Amino acid sequence: MLTVKTKRLESARTLSAAIRKIYQEVWTSRPLAWSVNSSNPLNDISRILGIHVAYPENYACVCTAQHLSGKYCTIAEAHNYKPELCSYIRNNFGYLLAKDGNHPMGGIPEPDVLLSVSNGCLNFIKWFDALRLYFDKPLVLLNTPHRLFEYDVPGYYLEYVIKELEICIDKLEKISGNKLTGRKMREAAYYSREQGKYWRKLLELNKTVPAPMNLSDLANLIFIPTSLSGTAFGLDLLKEAAAEVQQRVRNKVGAIPEERHRLVMFNIPPWYRLDFVNRFAERGCVFPFGDYLRYVWCTQDIDDSDPMEHFARKALSFGHNGGYGATIAETLYSCMGDRLAKDIKDFKIDGAVIAINKSCKIMSTGGLDIARLIREKFRLPVLVIDVDQADERTYSDAEIKQRYDAFFETIGEA
Ligand code: SF4
Repeated sequence: MLTVKTKRLESARTLSAAIRKIYQEVWTSRPLAWSVNSSNPLNDISRILGIHVAYPENYACVCTAQHLSGKYCTIAEAHNYKPELCSYIRNNFGYLLAKDGNHPMGGIPEPDVLLSVSNGCLNFIKWFDALRLYFDKPLVLLNTPHRLFEYDVPGYYLEYVIKELEICIDKLEKISGNKLTGRKMREAAYYSREQGKYWRKLLELNKTVPAPMNLSDLANLIFIPTSLSGTAFGLDLLKEAAAEVQQRVRNKVGAIPEERHRLVMFNIPPWYRLDFVNRFAERGCVFPFGDYLRYVWCTQDIDDSDPMEHFARKALSFGHNGGYGATIAETLYSCMGDRLAKDIKDFKIDGAVIAINKSCKIMSTGGLDIARLIREKFRLPVLVIDVDQADERTYSDAEIKQRYDAFFETIGEA
């Protein structure tokens, strides 16, 4: 029985209510696109064309939080989807293939169009191509080159992605029956940029001691810049959260009652056990930061004076501070060392939890190298755990408890 709880943000409650409303409204919204949660400008652009957007990845998180992902993964596996496949995808196909219609939040309706982008993981292409065949609906794919290092975006990359965007916009205009106007593009680029600004502000505020937010709050709030990008509504939600967090900082209110350790978490949190942060809170540990909260999303400041260029750069930039790598693994490999050093210093980190995730190989690649780096270079204690982000069937309470206890002993909190 956990006695210490993370002090949840009021604005996180507002967000939960907003998410419920979004899932209700999606049933009366046409045309509807299914898309990927990535720095995917097709989401921003579709919305201004009047195409509503739903996210099977986010829906997998909803199912997982309600402990139903195991059921959907089992159904998908019975239809020969391999257990090695990402659990978000198995959840999605399990949901589609389930016989009963009793789904969390009522489910998500069939799409009219599928949107994807190649800047994330390979599954974004294979999964959405499979959905194209399943629904027999058009797939609009934004192809982006991948960059390895922190150089400015070469001009020919930018030209290529702008051309790609133009082709995608042409298809989306035909599907929606609407024409894209310059004014709407400028508005969406503005909201996209402003959301990045408020997200960075939230992270900046969480450098304060005591940390005003725990990982669970931030992991929920990331829904906004990833799923409501380019919208005034999303910006308002982020502003509300930033004002509340600012207030906590002013009043020196921490997310947990007694902060003694500040940990960084790597990889996607297990959505079915997001309350694991409370187990750490009991031992005075807060998580002010995680790689999932910044390194993997486009949260850098991108000029919006030319909206087309803004969105092309957004697609090309997957990560903070100029977009180091265009995929998560590239980001991890090419630059995590330096950025990590800065974040460890700025967030006053004194320990790390690294999840090795059977589903998400791309987020787990390099995880053990980072563990070694943190232990050897920064001389900080590291806990490595094996947890799938959505497939709860692989989770062992007893095993995880043993690992947690050993870690708490190391940091003097046994
Ligand atoms: S493998 Fe990882 S990045 Fe790819 S869809 Fe699954 S969770 Fe997302």
